[in-house]
Amino acid sequence: MKSLESESIQNENTMSRIFASSISKDHIGQNLTLIGWIEDFRDMGKIGFISVRDMTGNFQGVLTGELLSTLRDVPRQSVILVKGTIQETKAENFQVEVKVEKIELLSKATNPLPIDPTGRVKSSMDKRLDSRALDLRNYKISNIFKTRSYVLNLIRKFLYSRMFVEVNTPKIIGSATEGGADLFGFEYFSKKAYLAQSPQLYKEQLTLGLERVFEISSYFRAEPSHTVRHLSEFVSVDLEAAFLDYGDIMDIVQELVISTINDLFVHRNKEMTLFENKQEILIDKIPRITYQKCLEDLKSLGEKIEFGEDLSDPALKKLGEIYPSFYFITDWPTKLKPFYILEHEKKPELSRSFDLQYGYLEIVSGGTREHHSERLRNKLLEKGLDPKSFSDHLQTFEWGMPPHSGCGLGFDRLMMMITNSTNIREVVLYPRDTERLSP
Ligand code: ATP
Ligand code: MG
Repeated sequence: MKSLESESIQNENTMSRIFASSISKDHIGQNLTLIGWIEDFRDMGKIGFISVRDMTGNFQGVLTGELLSTLRDVPRQSVILVKGTIQETKAENFQVEVKVEKIELLSKATNPLPIDPTGRVKSSMDKRLDSRALDLRNYKISNIFKTRSYVLNLIRKFLYSRMFVEVNTPKIIGSATEGGADLFGFEYFSKKAYLAQSPQLYKEQLTLGLERVFEISSYFRAEPSHTVRHLSEFVSVDLEAAFLDYGDIMDIVQELVISTINDLFVHRNKEMTLFENKQEILIDKIPRITYQKCLEDLKSLGEKIEFGEDLSDPALKKLGEIYPSFYFITDWPTKLKPFYILEHEKKPELSRSFDLQYGYLEIVSGGTREHHSERLRNKLLEKGLDPKSFSDHLQTFEWGMPPHSGCGLGFDRLMMMITNSTNIREVVLYPRDTERLSP
């Protein structure tokens, strides 16, 4: 195979290459350079056909003679540079084909590969995740991550248009403050430190100087359960805004979610079809159902939950049957919510809070926050937390802290909905869970 191997990566031809999706009948007769990974090779004896993929799609090459015999030794998924003349084709899937005149082997793949990246031979999710970089050579899978990138951009644009400022807060924190989820602790020089479970306290503090902030980042929770919707490291889109109530935040979330999905069906329709996502949203409002109403709905289905109890997995599954698309669950019992959530003035047992659900899947949690320092101190005590370990946070509430509200949107969970995936691991490049710490 020596003859095919290029001398150096510094191949001037690689710069003047044309992408697979760009070649058309307009190029017939032209001599062009293409690069990609060999996906398929059909050897008919005197003539051979290769299907080669680059980041934009596949092209077909036709080979004869010596080129055909040299290619017989090149394993699939090897990277080749192809020079040839564009010509008419009889193939159904291609507009034109390349009559190959020269091939250079830029990088040879081993044979056999740990998984079949074309997806023709199915591999378990674990095997695929073990070879994730190769898994991305599968068209559907790379499109999950291209769509993920596109959606992140949409979310940023949306939040900028609503006057939110993007911020970055520390992920290494000094005290396990927030309560609730289990944190990962580690040694930090001579001190104990933790990985942030959310930017909650920082984003609230920042409303004092910036009014509206958002952060898109990874957060860490020592989630011991093995579910299809929890990872130890996940990406959250957090926002916090001064002078808005939880109803206003629901309005923002509603618009964000509806505009994102509508945009996808217009500008990424091919990908949505590939994901078999049929959840075309033509509504402009997401129903808001109180926690109390959910209990009544559940009761009518034989699922009895007392006021103040959290909605269990089976309960959420049942609710998901009644409300299979997006819906908000609002006004949760105050005792189920963290210390920073404000209660209703006349009904203190209910909080100004909401979750956005997609069927059984929780995607967002949010609410109006307590902004009086003394009341916040009392809330900490009521939840059994020590105000002393919150002194940095509490003092900011004496510097003119505005009334504020916000939420955290689980970005990986939104991507599950968009890509129609039942397991969060499908939409995260290198997932981290109780068992998986590599690659
Ligand atoms: P759940 O009840 O599903 O465990 P939560 O109520 O503990 O979630 P929140 O603290 O409300 O989670 O976090 C805000 C959002 O972040 C959630 O609505 C969810 O979309 C996402 N999220 C939380 N924990 C995880 C996790 N371990 N893996 C992936 N996403 C998560
Ligand atoms: Mg929640």
